[in-house]
Amino acid sequence: MTSPRWIIHLDMDAFYASVEVLDNPSLKGRPVIVGGLFSRGVVSTASYEARARGVHSALPIARAKKLCPEGVYLPVRMARYQEISSIVMSVFRRYTPLVEPLSLDEAFLDVTGSLKLFGSAPDIAAAIKKDVFSETGLTVSAGVATQKHLAKIASGHKKPDGLTIIEEGQEQDFLWPLPLSKIWGVGQVTQKTLESWGLKTIGDLASLPVEAVVKKLGSSGYKLWLLANCHDDRAVEPERVIKSIGHEDTYAVDIEDPESVNRELLALAVKVGRRLRAHELKGLTVTLKVRNNEFKTWTRSKTLSQPLDDHQEIYRLVRELFPKDKKGPWRLLGISVSNFPEIRTQPQRDLFTPHEQPSDLRLLNAMDTINERFGQSGLQPASLLDKPDLEE
Ligand SMILES: [Mg+2]
Repeated sequence: MTSPRWIIHLDMDAFYASVEVLDNPSLKGRPVIVGGLFSRGVVSTASYEARARGVHSALPIARAKKLCPEGVYLPVRMARYQEISSIVMSVFRRYTPLVEPLSLDEAFLDVTGSLKLFGSAPDIAAAIKKDVFSETGLTVSAGVATQKHLAKIASGHKKPDGLTIIEEGQEQDFLWPLPLSKIWGVGQVTQKTLESWGLKTIGDLASLPVEAVVKKLGSSGYKLWLLANCHDDRAVEPERVIKSIGHEDTYAVDIEDPESVNRELLALAVKVGRRLRAHELKGLTVTLKVRNNEFKTWTRSKTLSQPLDDHQEIYRLVRELFPKDKKGPWRLLGISVSNFPEIRTQPQRDLFTPHEQPSDLRLLNAMDTINERFGQSGLQPASLLDKPDLEE
């Protein structure tokens, strides 16, 4: 018998909201909601007190205010969350070099090689929880298992401040009674499909013949079936290689006139440009995706000789790429940039070139900094300021 891998998934509890309470202890015990406070902003994180009132992430702020008028509504302070995140990630890296961050507040750790040094995987998880709390004042929930999928589900099992261990051999006993919605990566549409077959639990899905699942749901069904049967040999990948950066919006009201389309394209280009610069990436290929009200989708790409991260360039290209022979009205627009010539997995500071930047780059960086500090509503090109409320 081969000895198992041991994977820990760690997930900070209500991270943005908890940081706000940490920095302002008078908020303790109150419903704290962090999010974009502009007209159609959504909740990024809600404290547990706010969750008890039905507020959750991705909920429109306007809805949250109806559910929880007594809530404390705060803007996103990304720079501060990043600061805490780097402390948390450095705690994780003390116990293993195999750390795969999923976001600022979440990571997988493979601790198989650390057992001799630090004790069992549950001991390591407990030690990390203790270190994170003593070094940041914040709690983190941990899931310990022999597979990524199970570790991820386990960390969410007893939040906040949870520690859930799935012992080797207990995988199916743990997983199978859970509802289908707990499978990591199951979309709402797929979940509905599975429920329409009369399935309720992950065990129900696991017991179906694989052929039946593949016939109805294709390769994504196959992946879910494998996860349901505890077949997950994905490795913890310490350096996540970003292959593309993009953003797409589905509109509550289809958009038709060219002026609205252009305004949406510019809004998307700004978001993509901002993300590229945040990751210090420049891409050679720009892709436009459009979907009309009949759910027909087209994509068009252009590959350049020079990589780019500037929203104006992206905007100019996607206007060129827009399929003028196709008919709207448009239900979805999306832009992505891919094909990064030098993939940087770690942000690098340029130490060897003088600190001279072209003025437009300085401006873009300044815009990004302001937007980080004041949320998305901070600075935008003037033509976006009268952007109609179209996003879902
Ligand atoms: Mg979290």
